[in-house]
Amino acid sequence: MTTKVRKRDYELDAFVAALGDVPVETDPKIIHRKSRDFFWFSPVLKRQLQDRLADIVVAPRDEADVMHAASAAARHRVPVTIRGGGTGNYGQCVPVQGGVVLDVSALNAIEWQKGALLRVGAGRKMHLIDAETRKQGYELRMHPSTKRMASIGGFAAGGSAGAGSVTYGGMRELGNITGARVISLEENPRTFELKGDAALKICHGWGTTGIITALEMPLAPAFDWIDFIVSFDDFMTAVRFGYELTLADGVVKKLVTPIAWPVPTYFPSMEQYFPKGRAAVVAMIAEHSIEPFVSLAAAQNGVITYRRPTDESMGARPLYELTWNHTTLHALNVDRDITYLQALYPAFGFMEKVEEIQSLFSPEELLQHFEFTRYAGQPTAYGLALIKYTTDERLNEIMDIHQRHGVFIADPHIWMLEDSAGYKSAGADLMGFKREVDPLGICNPGKMRTYVPLR
Ligand SMILES: Cc1cc2nc3c(=O)[nH]c(=O)nc-3n(C[C@H](O)[C@H](O)[C@H](O)COP(=O)(O)OP(=O)(O)OC[C@H]3O[C@@H](n4cnc5c(N)ncnc54)[C@H](O)[C@@H]3O)c2cc1C
Repeated sequence: MTTKVRKRDYELDAFVAALGDVPVETDPKIIHRKSRDFFWFSPVLKRQLQDRLADIVVAPRDEADVMHAASAAARHRVPVTIRGGGTGNYGQCVPVQGGVVLDVSALNAIEWQKGALLRVGAGRKMHLIDAETRKQGYELRMHPSTKRMASIGGFAAGGSAGAGSVTYGGMRELGNITGARVISLEENPRTFELKGDAALKICHGWGTTGIITALEMPLAPAFDWIDFIVSFDDFMTAVRFGYELTLADGVVKKLVTPIAWPVPTYFPSMEQYFPKGRAAVVAMIAEHSIEPFVSLAAAQNGVITYRRPTDESMGARPLYELTWNHTTLHALNVDRDITYLQALYPAFGFMEKVEEIQSLFSPEELLQHFEFTRYAGQPTAYGLALIKYTTDERLNEIMDIHQRHGVFIADPHIWMLEDSAGYKSAGADLMGFKREVDPLGICNPGKMRTYVPLR
């Protein structure tokens, strides 16, 4: 795949003039920062994407500015890459064909909350959503481990699951998003109000299907969550405990993450809570479910080493920031040769499959942690294993071995939508929707190889 930086084929000055008073940013340092996400988690993407830059950043203040910017971009055929918190990890918001980075973070208003249903601006950070909805006893059903950095629109368009998915499944499960407002990229932009299952069209489209300005999200009861670390003799015992906890529907939990030794060596500030050589489970448990949780842990000889209320205040560390893809971030802070996998284990025969995969790799090459979830209602887990990277060939081989053994891989080392798991499931629907909201193919262009734009 070429890494050549594209030559601009539109008039930047004319485009900026057409923007009128919509705020723009031309400082090269800011353009550089806002042209990047966490693609560097992958050594493959790091090589391919690090030189891709926008020409300019446009920062709409409200939906009227978004319409204005969308119209100007369509008239001048300017590529538009939408950016929320910029925490995607496959270059989803890297402007591979230059043009505009459209920073939607000012679209952050809570439009309304009616009990357990919320309508919110797509740019609002997820921790700032919970801060507001908790006042009425509700919170987001799920959030990625980047809750304190990422936007709800970016999670819907670029993410998949997180803390809370052990109960509610992933973002794409029917009912987890109930409405979305999307603005098209046309000379006369249109507004689409998607409802019910139609709202799922915006999921995992990587910002290629119009500009999401608002989302309707069903909420969950906001419990007082307690962070736990439980230490176990070995990894398979930790996984068995995690699986039993996931199946225990009466125990209210938000996070269940078994972690193999030596992964905790990448959390130096938490050293005292992860006894040397032992596996662990990191969990978030509702306060009223602590007793059954403790007895379940005792049945597997688990030793509780950490127990504190989840603390998301400035300077504090909620334990979910050790899990999901934060594990990769901590590992990369210590060892630059680490990268990662995204593996979805089959629900049926789950424990046997974990054992089978563990036997195929050395613990020096594949360092395991699991994020329990529900997938189409069935309890299972994502394996976001850390990989000691050697070559692209070996990385691909590791993923092939998983696939051959019946473990589904969502390859995190690609940046073309057709190569991702999300595309395979969204398929033609995503393409049909793109035709409506982005007929000119200027919305995050270069990320969909099979789309033929109308010019
Ligand atoms: C350390 C780390 C941990 C992570 N943990 C998780 C995890 O637990 N679960 C998970 O699913 N992901 C995880 N991720 C990936 C990412 O953080 C999440 O998917 C996050 O929700 C993305 O939100 P964002 O606002 O940063 O999106 P961005 O990175 O800004 O955007 C993501 C994609 O969505 C598009 N987009 C953003 N806003 C809009 C909009 N308003 N309209 C249309 N398109 C839009 C962008 O163009 C881009 O393609 C992690 C990443 C890192 C670096």
